[in-house]
Amino acid sequence: MRDVLLVRYGEVFLKGANRPHFLKVLTDNVKRVVKPLGGHVWLSDSRVYVSDFNDLQACIDCVTKVFGVYSVSPAVEMEKDLDVIAEQCIKMMAPYSGTFKVQGKRSDKKFPMNSMELAAELGHRILEANPNLKVDVHKPEHKLMVEIRDNAYICVEEIMAVGGMPMGTGGKAALLLSGGIDSPVAGYQLMKRGVRLCAIHFQSPPYTGELARDKVLQLAKKLAWYSGGMRVYLVPFTKCQLEIHEKCPDELGTLITRRFMMRIAQVIARQFGAQALITGESLGQVASQTMDALVCTDAVVDMPVFRPLIGLDKTEIMDIANKIDTYETSILPYEDCCTVFTPRHPVTKPKLDTMPKAEEKLDIDALVNEAVEGTEMVILEP
Ligand code: ATP
Ligand code: MG
Repeated sequence: MRDVLLVRYGEVFLKGANRPHFLKVLTDNVKRVVKPLGGHVWLSDSRVYVSDFNDLQACIDCVTKVFGVYSVSPAVEMEKDLDVIAEQCIKMMAPYSGTFKVQGKRSDKKFPMNSMELAAELGHRILEANPNLKVDVHKPEHKLMVEIRDNAYICVEEIMAVGGMPMGTGGKAALLLSGGIDSPVAGYQLMKRGVRLCAIHFQSPPYTGELARDKVLQLAKKLAWYSGGMRVYLVPFTKCQLEIHEKCPDELGTLITRRFMMRIAQVIARQFGAQALITGESLGQVASQTMDALVCTDAVVDMPVFRPLIGLDKTEIMDIANKIDTYETSILPYEDCCTVFTPRHPVTKPKLDTMPKAEEKLDIDALVNEAVEGTEMVILEP
């Protein structure tokens, strides 16, 4: 008999012929996060298990953050002997009172009782041993789960995890990461669906300083936990911004800046092998995030641009930022390159066909190439 953590996965179930691959990736990701805790991880019969951890709570904390994990339960593993199982069930239910039910699950069809029979028999024995309990099969206060697989597993507690798809099964994308609240959340949302990210950050020294850079690396590091490392590209953006400021209509300054970010990001994304860009934009939040403005931004790239926050309010975004622990870092004061040359009256309904004229005095290719060539890459290790 020994303690294990029983790990259930969610949508991975649906993946048909790809299921073995998804499960292998999921298991490897669990292995990676429990490694510092000394845990042993294996996959067997629709469950992932962790044993030999030196700190159960720490193990729960990190496994519930692995994408693809639906829930976890601290469980006891034992031989498939009815009396041994019943004795353990009685022991585990001893501290409880109120209503309960036993949920049996027999996946080993050689076990002599089916799921229903097993639940009924164990329920009966528990009731006899603990007079403070009553059975309620519809809305029980406590649920004792007994699974008959390669071994028998018993657990009472089920702790919900993040869900999503295993990291690495959803392709690659490039996240435009500012130091604000929104973009780390946007990146997290795609990572949750299994997408591996690189981060691209635009900096404009001397208008933006070391602090802004450190802050972005700190945010990227938080995201990198989920993928076991991350590449961060730091793009020198001062020249683009100065030229835009000098040579383009002031009221279109922010929008043109955004268009340059997208152009440059697309080149870097391709180098990384990414197929899409991700931004933290939310419809209507600022002038450059109206529908007309987003049309003008998207027009300069061929890649799909994912905006997972498009329909969220700021408060909803802040809730997620708190949950993933990026909020406190995001609100540290810093100067973003976007805020350096903010026009006083930005247009909210820009017209796509006026953009080429607004940018005609710029050598777009040269500016993009120079920025890409000057980009510094930082590799964040797990
Ligand atoms: P955030 O909170 O993510 O900074 P925001 O609400 O401040 O977003 P903007 O400043 O208009 O919005 O930026 C919109 C999006 O453009 C950001 O979510 C981010 O994806 C990208 N972005 C903005 N500034 C930068 C930057 N300096 N480097 C990389 N990406 C940026
Ligand atoms: Mg911002």
